[in-house]
Amino acid sequence: MLVDRTKENLERCKCMSCPSYTLGCKVKNVPVNLFKMMEDLDKVEHFEQMFCAFEKSHCIEEDKGCLCPECPVHAEYDLNRDDYCLRDGGISEDNCVAGFNGDDFNASEKEDKNLH
Ligand code: SF4
Ligand code: SF4
Repeated sequence: MLVDRTKENLERCKCMSCPSYTLGCKVKNVPVNLFKMMEDLDKVEHFEQMFCAFEKSHCIEEDKGCLCPECPVHAEYDLNRDDYCLRDGGISEDNCVAGFNGDDFNASEKEDKNLH
């Protein structure tokens, strides 16, 4: 099930309290987000929050922790991973796109760490 792009879900999203959402990104994106919130979120192409319902962030670049597992939206939609700001893919366990799921994400993260 795709995460509904509703204001109710946005209000429950924890991204704005997350250590990965840097101050610089907040300064840059909060005014734009507020402007976009006046539109129909279903018609908004990119949004810098609730990344499980949109694409990944255009600003956040580093994982400094993730609050997705504590988020009620995560629980309600049976989401299967975290760090949606860094990787596209707000999908539930049942609708996992072929070749990409939480295990793949963790595996690629491990590979990345092994390479550096
Ligand atoms: S997706 Fe996770 S890591 Fe990214 S800002 Fe939101 S809570 Fe933080
Ligand atoms: S699961 Fe993560 S990205 Fe999605 S609404 Fe919750 S905190 Fe935001």
